[in-house]
Amino acid sequence: MNREDLIEIERELSDPFRELDRIALINQEKVLKALQEVRLASTDFNWTTGYGYGDVGREKVEKVYAQVFKTEDALVRPNIVSGTHAIALPLKALTSKGSTIFSVTGAPYDTLHKVLGTSGDAPGNLRERGVKYRELPLKDDKMIDFDHIAESITPDVDLVIMQRSTGYSDRRAFTVDELARAVREVKKVYDGTIFLDNCYGEFTEVMEPSEVGFDVMAGSLIKNPGGGLSLTGGYIVGTEAVIERVASELTAPGIGKECGLTFGQSRNTLMGLFLAPHRVNQCIKGALLFAKTFERLGFDCIPASDDPRSDIVQSIALQEPEHLVNFCRAVQASSPVDSHVTPYPWDMPGYEDQVIMAAGGFIEGSSIELSADGPMRDPYRVYFQGGLTYEHIKLTLLHVLREMGLLEE
Ligand SMILES: *Cc1c(COP(=O)(O)O)cnc(C)c1O
Repeated sequence: MNREDLIEIERELSDPFRELDRIALINQEKVLKALQEVRLASTDFNWTTGYGYGDVGREKVEKVYAQVFKTEDALVRPNIVSGTHAIALPLKALTSKGSTIFSVTGAPYDTLHKVLGTSGDAPGNLRERGVKYRELPLKDDKMIDFDHIAESITPDVDLVIMQRSTGYSDRRAFTVDELARAVREVKKVYDGTIFLDNCYGEFTEVMEPSEVGFDVMAGSLIKNPGGGLSLTGGYIVGTEAVIERVASELTAPGIGKECGLTFGQSRNTLMGLFLAPHRVNQCIKGALLFAKTFERLGFDCIPASDDPRSDIVQSIALQEPEHLVNFCRAVQASSPVDSHVTPYPWDMPGYEDQVIMAAGGFIEGSSIELSADGPMRDPYRVYFQGGLTYEHIKLTLLHVLREMGLLEE
């Protein structure tokens, strides 16, 4: 691989890039219109103290989210501490002793096993509260088993859940069309609530899954919709009835959405949302550049460079432990923050194998900023996502290729 090859690869990507620009334009307009619709004003960024009654900024943030995701209501708060918290809230709010949660998209994201109580015994997990969990495995080709959805949803199921993005698995993200098809199958036999883990999916397509039949979705503000500016937080969007229950779970019954300080974050939250469609565009362009380059070098990529995309995650099977280590070290060394730090494979709680992680972002743990990680096991798959600018991702690619000994200069 040399610089001419890379120029050629970028040329071949011009059609996909144009399509991504079309998506970004539509999403940018969607966000802009929502900000105008709520008549966002500079005075809305003032914040309150104490109980946080009458925080106009907070109320507008939630109206904007509801409009962008085309839902009745939204809960968007800096005191939702992570994506896992944003997902756990509706799972807890919408179930009680004797309930059954059913996943249509196979096993959920790693951290949710502890929430469900299918692994570990963290106090307050759903199993401990008498909530049962079952799942429909994916097919061998890693697609949703559409033909068996209807027959596997038995009358005891009272919350159906799905996950859009890949997580630490070896499947690509499900597209909004595929999720819509799954929802149609579910609705043949079930009229209860359908939840989606939308992490990493926001603004990757022109429609959000909340437009195709999901009653409630959740995600993290230090991923796509925070646009790299949100310092922390999570969102839940959905029907009024569901959001009311979730707000009761977050604060207290009788308080709901009426309280909660925003600590001056409404400006970052909305400015980040305003930037998010472009940020996501840059991330996916960068992910495509990596995929096309590594495919040319003979590595297996998920998603492949010509697969449909519905999240910002790129995984590459690097085959050799040294490749995975060198890849992550090059990503770290290319970071704007902590570039002098050297990552090592490490034992992590909850993981069977050692894991190596590279993250040098302005905001800790933010994965809309460039980050890479992977478990030290065959096929030494690196999971790579984010990047605030395409230029930064491209510079990182050059560094990675050099570090792996794959660049002829
Ligand atoms: C990131 C992510 C989550 C939540 O992760 P946090 O680290 O808790 O923010 C949940 N589901 C998926 C698919 C994710 O990618």
